[in-house]
Amino acid sequence: MARTKVALVGIGKIALDQHVPAIAASPDWELAATVSRKGTVAGVSAYTDFASFLAERPDVPVVSLCLPPVPRFDYAEAALKAGRHAMLEKPPGATLAEVHTLQALARDRGLTLYATWHSRMAHAVAPAKAWLADRAIRKVHITWREDVRKWHPGQDWVFEPGGMGVFDPGINALSILTEILPDPVHLTRARLEFPANRQTPIAAQLTFSGNVTADFDWRQEGPQTWDIDVDTDAGRLALRMGGNVLEIDGQPMAGENTIMGEYPALYARMAQLVRAGESEVDLSPMVHVADALTLGERVTTVAFDF
Ligand code: NAP
Repeated sequence: MARTKVALVGIGKIALDQHVPAIAASPDWELAATVSRKGTVAGVSAYTDFASFLAERPDVPVVSLCLPPVPRFDYAEAALKAGRHAMLEKPPGATLAEVHTLQALARDRGLTLYATWHSRMAHAVAPAKAWLADRAIRKVHITWREDVRKWHPGQDWVFEPGGMGVFDPGINALSILTEILPDPVHLTRARLEFPANRQTPIAAQLTFSGNVTADFDWRQEGPQTWDIDVDTDAGRLALRMGGNVLEIDGQPMAGENTIMGEYPALYARMAQLVRAGESEVDLSPMVHVADALTLGERVTTVAFDF
C-alpha cells in the first residue's frame, strides 16, 4: 500500500529525536515536507512559512505539529481550515478551550485530529491497565523527578506563560495515570514551587481523590525517576522508566527498558485514525494540570537559570 504523505512542522528537539526516525521506519508514512523557520531534515523539501506550504502542497494530507504548545494553535487551526488532518504533540494546547475549538473544526470538516500522549504508548502501560482492571486500588504515588537542564537545555519557553513548567514532563505521568486507573480521580490539593525569576513551576506536589499523590520535580541531578507505584488488594504494581517496565510485587513482569517504541506506536495509531475517519482527543491529563494551576498553593523558590 502507498505511504501517506505527512509534513512535520517545528523541526526542533522532539521532531529530530523521535518523529523523524519513527516516520522513516513506518510502513504507513512518507515524510514529504518540513515547515520550520530554521530546522530542516536532509533530503526533505523544506518550507519556512506554513501558509506557503499549505498553498503549494495540496498533495500532503496530514501534518504533525511538533511546536511548543503556545505557538501550535495557529498552525493547527490553519491546517484544519486547509483540509489537512492534524496530529498534535503533547500537551495538545496551551489552553483547554483552544483544543475544543480544534475538535469542533475537525468534526465539522470530517478531518482527523489526534491529540497524542506518547507516554500512553510506553511498553508496559497496556499490561498495567489490564492488571489493574479488576483490582481494588488502595494507594497510588507518582514520582517524576528529572533534570530540566538535561532534557530541555536552553528551552526558555518551558518557563514562559503556557510552557507549563514541570507539568511539561509531569503531564506524561498524568497521561498514564488517566489511562490505567479503572475509575477517574480529581485533584484536591496542590503545592507549586515557582522560581523567583520564572512564570511556571519547577516542582509540584499533588494530591488527588482516591489516595493518589504525585511528586514532580525538575531539579533532580544524577539518576532520573519516572515511577508510578500502585498498592492494591492483590499486590503492588510498579511502572518504571516512564511506563515502559512493569513490576508486580517487585518482580519484572512486562515491558522493555526503552522509550523508542512510543512514537512508532503514535504514528501507527494516526494511520488507523485517518483510515477510519476518526479523531482521538482525550484532555483528561490536561484537566489535572489546569486544576493544579487553578487550585495550587504557590511558593516562591530560588531563581533558576539554564
Ligand atoms: P523545541 O525544540 O524548543 O521547539 C520545536 C520547534 O518549534 C523549534 O525548533 C522551532 O522551530 C519551533 N518553534 C518554537 N517556538 C516557535 C514559535 N514561537 N513560533 C513558531 N515556531 C516555533 O521544543 P521540543 O522540545 O521539540 O518540544 C516541542 C513539543 O514536543 C512540546 O509540546 C513538548 O512538550 C513536546 N515533547 C518534547 C519532548 C522533549 O524531549 N523535548 C519529548 C516529548 C514531547 P523553528 O525555530 O525552526 O521554527
